[in-house]
Amino acid sequence: MQYYSLNRQSPPIDFRAATIAGQAPDGGLYFPETIPQFSAEFLDSLPTLSPADLAYQVMQPYVGDTIPAAELRRICAETVNFPFPLVPVTGRISALELFHGPTLAFKDVGARFMSRCLGYFSRGESAPVTVLVATSGDTGGAVAHGFLGVPGVEVVILYPSGKVSPLQELQLTTLGQNITALEVQGNFDDCQALVKQAFKDDSLTSRRTLTSANSINVARWLPQQLYYLFALQQWTPAAPPVISVPSGNFGNLCAGLLAHASGLPVGHFIAACNANDAGAEYLRTAIFAPKTAVATISNAMDVGHPSNFVRILELFKHEHATISQLLNGYSVSDADTSATIRRVEAERGYLLDPHGAVAFFALEKYLADYPAAAGFLLATAHPVKFPEVVEPLIGRPVELPAALHYLLEKPKHSVPLAPSYEALRTWLLS
Ligand SMILES: *Cc1c(COP(=O)(O)O)cnc(C)c1O
Repeated sequence: MQYYSLNRQSPPIDFRAATIAGQAPDGGLYFPETIPQFSAEFLDSLPTLSPADLAYQVMQPYVGDTIPAAELRRICAETVNFPFPLVPVTGRISALELFHGPTLAFKDVGARFMSRCLGYFSRGESAPVTVLVATSGDTGGAVAHGFLGVPGVEVVILYPSGKVSPLQELQLTTLGQNITALEVQGNFDDCQALVKQAFKDDSLTSRRTLTSANSINVARWLPQQLYYLFALQQWTPAAPPVISVPSGNFGNLCAGLLAHASGLPVGHFIAACNANDAGAEYLRTAIFAPKTAVATISNAMDVGHPSNFVRILELFKHEHATISQLLNGYSVSDADTSATIRRVEAERGYLLDPHGAVAFFALEKYLADYPAAAGFLLATAHPVKFPEVVEPLIGRPVELPAALHYLLEKPKHSVPLAPSYEALRTWLLS
């Protein structure tokens, strides 16, 4: 499989090169040259396939011969070694829980797959690869856990001091091994600016091999298709589901659309957005106009310019009429998000996180117009990650899952860093 740049000014490359490069030299996102088709046998065997076998069969055509079969099977098995249950919430709505991984959010799968691919590709390299990443909270934890203990890879995470939640900070700073957390005396924009400057500094990159673990990387984007297949394994109604995806950068939704283009039966997709609704607006008006991001309570979706939207347009050859037959967009306010968390907990005993609540509300709206349809939302994070939003709404604390209690006992290790590029450069070269 070859990948071409959506800006079409860089040559096509294979999975290995695309994983290492992240973005094309012309600034474009990489896109697969062909969309593999699921065979009838594969779809028939779906309910009985193990998660690891399923992951291998879906990912193999994308990886091609850049990773030998036995290695790729190991990578797939390690990527999906936690459950993805489809839990009924109402008679017509279920939640696909994607928060049972190590950092309690769906980004774990993409981060685990990408880290292991990069670990394989860096084998035999004399110098370790350094993954440099800035985080406002969630991405850093998923990337750090994904790369933990992967030989040949060092991870350096920059996070803004005092501006991530206590749980997020523990997930960044208690790992040790090949993970270092730099605690920047500044905000997220400072962290991001420092990382960008490092990638542009030839005098640094000639002495230390740097890679990003950015969400536009094909090795992080493509494995997100697996969620939709895991859901279909558990889907029992005869009619294919309506699937509501809480969307920010639109990587997750685009992966679902890709699985559908490969032949996965899906009734309809919903792009569930918060007030940052450039994608939903495009679906309504056929005009894609990025905006400045505004802050909401579903903050992982506070994206004004969704970078993966170009991949959706490419998948549908920029035909708005075709896209809007399969995909509806909704913009959900913070007030409706909060009311949904409170109502679903009170009436159904099911606790949504703010991102899942956006998707639940949008799905309910859609289903109101289609009384015979049923579907599920992607519950992308565990509610315990957003206590400041959720706890006042339900009037009680949210319990930390037992699997995470160990975090509370671990000592925090971070390296304080002034928000200056010289400070970062000196640290990286020391
Ligand atoms: C990243 C994230 C999203 C948005 O996913 P995209 O692929 O960027 O659209 C939704 N929910 C949570 C909890 C996230 O961390």
